[in-house]
Amino acid sequence: MKRIIYISTVNRHLSEEEVESIGQISARNNHEVGITGVLIAVHDYFFQVLEGDEDTIANVVERIRRDPRHRDMHILKAETGISERLFPKWSMRTIRLAKSGDVILQAIRNLLQNIAQSHRIIERYTQPSVLKFLTEGINPLTVPPRKTEKIVLFCDMVGFSYLSDLFPVEEVADVVNAFLEVCSITLVEHGGVVAKYVGDCIIAYFEEGQADECIAACLEILRRISEMRRNTHNCHLMKFLYCGIGVAAGTVIEGNFGSSVKMDYTVLGGTVNLAARLEALTHEIAKPIALSKSVMEGASRPWPFALVGDLQLKGSSRPCPVYTLDHPLLDEFKGHTDLVEEMRQVCGDGVCGVVCPQTPNG
Ligand code: FAD
Repeated sequence: MKRIIYISTVNRHLSEEEVESIGQISARNNHEVGITGVLIAVHDYFFQVLEGDEDTIANVVERIRRDPRHRDMHILKAETGISERLFPKWSMRTIRLAKSGDVILQAIRNLLQNIAQSHRIIERYTQPSVLKFLTEGINPLTVPPRKTEKIVLFCDMVGFSYLSDLFPVEEVADVVNAFLEVCSITLVEHGGVVAKYVGDCIIAYFEEGQADECIAACLEILRRISEMRRNTHNCHLMKFLYCGIGVAAGTVIEGNFGSSVKMDYTVLGGTVNLAARLEALTHEIAKPIALSKSVMEGASRPWPFALVGDLQLKGSSRPCPVYTLDHPLLDEFKGHTDLVEEMRQVCGDGVCGVVCPQTPNG
């Protein structure tokens, strides 16, 4: 059996009758499928415990999550393999604690508010794969490392160190956040997992059979970034936002890597290194997307692949075939040198407080 404990916030004021109706419907439905638990409503917060068969809990939680009467559902605890129920007699006992002015209720409300806030913060700092384990009731630290097949993607801003020295720090932070947001959202929308950020670089992965989704995500990232550049006034850092994407498919080691101070659940291995090398190569080949042969072979849609050549990559003993896409979105790419030239043309030396140096440094 599984037990889920979550907290959520009401979307609008709910009358006593409405909360009562939620309780009645819950009790009726839960009784039919063998779920027990308790639902506590304190002012604008719900706190609920649900326990029952794993699949049934998953269905009900999904239905509750979609209910527009509340939002920000944070799973506080998920336990699998439980053998005893905490509330064996309650198919859903609903308790409404709403007497305003009561000091104890105020304290409970504050407690729930703080828990919700802490969870919101922690969730944003936590890797999605780790969150997934936690909501499934699995302790991520106990997950053993394993070899798996993945499509690994590195996506990096062009000339970030160079540009970050030239623009005001707030503008740099805004653009980096906008870049990470658009790339991450696009990757997740296409079924990818964002493994981590390393400065302005995103490391993400897709499952073995998702080469088409991964390539579609790469093109969509370029399209969205191109739109961001177009909608920005001259001399803003966003105008110079370009990225390089390297993608490789193959075996990786997936698991916990780190120390007692900091732990990452991530992927490691030759395929990951290859994706990083391919990303670095985008500057040399003047194309924003560089793909390994394995990615091309894994795709089934008729993408306009173009062989760049057999190239010697750093750390590799022999040349590797590198592919890109023959697509108009890729023609907008600017490497370091072109980027400096564009800055000169758009801003001119010294305009917008920026003096463009001759040689970019990375
Ligand atoms: P129906 O028998 O079709 O009844 C739904 C009734 O709920 C409607 O007639 C209406 O009166 C009311 N209702 C539904 N949606 C809305 C809405 N958006 N606005 C206003 N009124 C609405 N369901 C469970 O089965 N088990 C639970 O443990 C459970 N816990 C919940 C906890 C919370 C905090 C909330 C907000 C909802 C919970 N629900 C629970 C309700 C769940 O989200 C679904 O609304 C419900 O399961 C639908 O069941 P049904 O199809 O049998 O509903």
